[in-house]
Amino acid sequence: MRSYLIAGNWKMHGRRDAVVELLAGLKTQLPAEPGADIAVFPPAIYIDLVSRELQGAPVAVGAQNVCDQSKDGAFTGEVSAEMLRDMGCRYVIVGHSERRELYGESSALVAQRAKAAIEAGLTPLVCVGENEAQRDAGNTLDVVGEQLTAVIKVLSTQQLGSIVVAYEPVWAIGTGKTATPAQAQEVHAFIRASLAKQSEEIAATVRIVYGGSVKAGSAGELFAQPDIDGGLVGGASLDAGEFSAICRAA
Ligand code: 13P
Repeated sequence: MRSYLIAGNWKMHGRRDAVVELLAGLKTQLPAEPGADIAVFPPAIYIDLVSRELQGAPVAVGAQNVCDQSKDGAFTGEVSAEMLRDMGCRYVIVGHSERRELYGESSALVAQRAKAAIEAGLTPLVCVGENEAQRDAGNTLDVVGEQLTAVIKVLSTQQLGSIVVAYEPVWAIGTGKTATPAQAQEVHAFIRASLAKQSEEIAATVRIVYGGSVKAGSAGELFAQPDIDGGLVGGASLDAGEFSAICRAA
């Protein structure tokens, strides 16, 4: 009953020409009626271009971050959830590990971003995940639990039903070291059980996607796990052929 979601996080990559070329590749290589929801997340400056290029294509657009403040105001450098909606976004990533680690975003701030997104009608992809030292110390579920709890705390039960959770172990991001299907499934099941404590019904419908070195070769086995509902793809989403193959694996 949950549909798959395949999300391509382009991170800070792309130029106008390269964006148009990548989208042209996707439009020719993706199936006309894909068996999954598909979305791409370009750098904010290219969202308008991507939205216009993708009109009529079975691919939604998302942003890589969003301001925690809902009302317009003196927030230099920020982009609000309503602005993202205005420019054609349906989704937004919040709490990516690169935001948490390189820009010091706390779980509380990430939770506020998720709330602002939902209130504007966007679907937030809430990223959670442990780093290598935390996994080695046996703290994976504690870390993921803390990150998730912060979001659960600020959302109503109904709002919780409109998030997507992205489990991205930091040690698997950009390293070529994909989590094994069993490793990922264990954490995904834990996330679903945590959501079930709020509402069994919502836990059954919330999509939990996996990210971290997903490639066409590893996608099928990951997506076959009972609690893995798709992928958040970084590097491989910059290659139209590879990303299309990942979408077909769902
Ligand atoms: P890679 O697929 O390049 O490992 O990146 C994963 C990621 O961080 C997606 O948000």
